[in-house]
Amino acid sequence: MNVLVTGAAGYIGSHAVQALLRAGHAVVALDNLSRGHRQAVPSAVPFVQADVRDSERVLDVLRSHRIECVMHFAAFAYVGESVEQPLLYYDNNTLGTLGLLRAVARSDCRRFVFSSTCSTYGVPDTLPIHESAAQSPINPYGASKLCSERMLRDLRPALPDFACAILRYFNVAGCASDGSLGEHHEPETHLIPVLLQAALGQRDKVTVFGTDYPTPDGTCIRDYLHVEDLVDAHIGVMQALAPGAEMIYNLGMGRGHSVREVIAAARTATGRPFHVEFGARRPGDPPTLYSDPSKIRRELGWKARRTDLAQIIETAWRWFRDNPRRYG
Ligand code: UDP
Repeated sequence: MNVLVTGAAGYIGSHAVQALLRAGHAVVALDNLSRGHRQAVPSAVPFVQADVRDSERVLDVLRSHRIECVMHFAAFAYVGESVEQPLLYYDNNTLGTLGLLRAVARSDCRRFVFSSTCSTYGVPDTLPIHESAAQSPINPYGASKLCSERMLRDLRPALPDFACAILRYFNVAGCASDGSLGEHHEPETHLIPVLLQAALGQRDKVTVFGTDYPTPDGTCIRDYLHVEDLVDAHIGVMQALAPGAEMIYNLGMGRGHSVREVIAAARTATGRPFHVEFGARRPGDPPTLYSDPSKIRRELGWKARRTDLAQIIETAWRWFRDNPRRYG
């Protein structure tokens, strides 16, 4: 299939490009490089530096490359930043999806796979989180993604044969197992990369955001999924998308780990000491999020293959250790 990957120079997008190429698909990579890294996309892959809000430019790409499916990863994804700068998130994430869909609607492309998030659920009433759980985000990041979900779900019946998949990610972790791709955000705020930077001596400490949550050890619980498992699910979903279909799946391991458990796994994976301090809660963080991934397992046969957190972190550690400047 001819696939347009938006946000292709980002962490998840770059891993998706690699998996699509390995599965024999033709890929066009699009990224505005505001946060992505050009080196994360192989030079043999057609690369378009453009913003998804630029509908005319995107339409030109969709038509000239006869794109059959869009995988839309381009987005900002920091909960904390979204609380401080909500409009940035509605602009980049929600209006980004709007601009892209405007182009898709005018093109012949009728398959769309959207990166959504468990942040759309807010603080869930029950755990694990099933796709039918109420969506009531508690931060602008989750809300900006929920608006995009809604747009897609409204567009689908209005556009003949348009099929969309909404994939709600839990926490994505790890790097390419062959060491070829990594994770580089500026600034880095995600827990696992921050721990690895501390293990490398690039940070003097890591702060745990909150120890008074209603969880067994007082720290937040998240469901960490290896990035290669995540992108494999995208390819399976893309292939299963029948004309006019709407598919909604949670993507997670189906099991939660607390911040303290992630720290212990990072110590095992790196074998290096680092200093941890305990601080206040970070605004916008729900206490516990972990998925019920049984729907995609039942319907498409997908499940996480990498289930050991220390081993997942080790794939990232190898890349961080071998590329101490990351893509810099
Ligand atoms: N976290 C932390 N210290 C950090 C970064 C993150 O304690 O320096 C916590 C954060 O509060 C959350 C979990 O680790 O409970 C995962 O955070 P991350 O930013 O990696 O992902 P998010 O769940 O926000 O998407």
